[in-house]
Amino acid sequence: MTETTAPLLSPLELHADRISDPALQPIARKVAAGERLDALDARALYATSDLIGLGTLADFANRRQNGDRVWFSANQHINPTNVCILRNTCTFCSFARMPKEEGAYTRSLEEVYHEAAQATGTPTREFHIVGGLAPKLGMDYYGEMIRGLKARHPEVHIKALTAVEIAHIARVDKITPREVLIALKDAGLTSMPGGGAEVFSTAVRATIAERKLTGDEWLAVHREAHLLGIPSNCTMLYGHVETADDRIEHLTALRALQDETGGFLTYIPLAYHPENNELGEELGRVGTATTGYEDLKNIAIGRLFLDNIPHVKTHWPMVTPFMSQIALAFGCDDVEGTVVFERIYHDAGATTELGMSYGALVGLIRDAGKVPMERNSLYEPVRSDFSELDIPRGGDVRRTLPVVHAA
Ligand code: SF4
Repeated sequence: MTETTAPLLSPLELHADRISDPALQPIARKVAAGERLDALDARALYATSDLIGLGTLADFANRRQNGDRVWFSANQHINPTNVCILRNTCTFCSFARMPKEEGAYTRSLEEVYHEAAQATGTPTREFHIVGGLAPKLGMDYYGEMIRGLKARHPEVHIKALTAVEIAHIARVDKITPREVLIALKDAGLTSMPGGGAEVFSTAVRATIAERKLTGDEWLAVHREAHLLGIPSNCTMLYGHVETADDRIEHLTALRALQDETGGFLTYIPLAYHPENNELGEELGRVGTATTGYEDLKNIAIGRLFLDNIPHVKTHWPMVTPFMSQIALAFGCDDVEGTVVFERIYHDAGATTELGMSYGALVGLIRDAGKVPMERNSLYEPVRSDFSELDIPRGGDVRRTLPVVHAA
């Protein structure tokens, strides 16, 4: 690791004069004093159309904690299977396939290792591994995969398997999620991604993810992971059928678990994409996406309400690199990494590139007036000196998918 250098700190000032909505003034006083916001405050934040005022508050809260430093990771996404037993009930999902459906695939372990081998000789420090719930894939497959990846790439952290996948493996092997987590940690798991949370409201889940883990079950898996020393991320999928109150209930539950365990590293608001899924057709939303206004609002409110989660990440494959750059002034201190091959949101119509080069990512952060800091999965600094780096203008990105092997 290179030596850490302190982030440049902009003069920290809450520019209350930029807030035009009077309803935000009492919240501004709380934010300035470092007081926790309550559900009524969150309602006012969701109700406001004063986006600049909201961003001013979120930017202040972020810079107080993180200065101008923005983290990124050199990571590679790996999706071992898109076969999923919930394919017909997660109506928002464009990625999953039934076992015999066209386009279904399950990688052999050798194929996973082959794909991961692209990390050799690159700065990659994290494998981000998520996929579907294939009927028979359990500990034999995932335990061996993580052990094999760790043996081949000891310097790469493995952030793998959502709470939903952990619970699925437990069912396949007839053991508890805790036993799955213990075994995966032993195999080399570093941390868990935050997917599968969607929105915890039972009514929302009945519409978009009827048979998925309940909110309480999702939280229970993460609680167990945190108690075992496995940190994790958390997410909220916004922009479908949920209300502002559903979002507030969701954020309140995340904040409560964080008060209890302190195990969440990062909050990532995820924008719903309506292409190629049943929900998008039902809602008449095909061909649309969340607006930039909505994206920035959800980022800013996440930063303000989740006062105990240190990092808020913007996911550029979903909201575009342009919006991610602006998000750095709306409360984000972390940008999704190099990714290499993003599949899940591109199946849902994302029109961004499939990956971003290391140099382009550093350039994106710097051009926003921020100080880039490469990290590993645990937010330990990896590199802060980019003076020798060739930083392209206009992006240097991948457009092609690797060959997908049908099951
Ligand atoms: S969202 Fe996840 S669990 Fe639901 S169908 Fe898609 S891959 Fe399966």
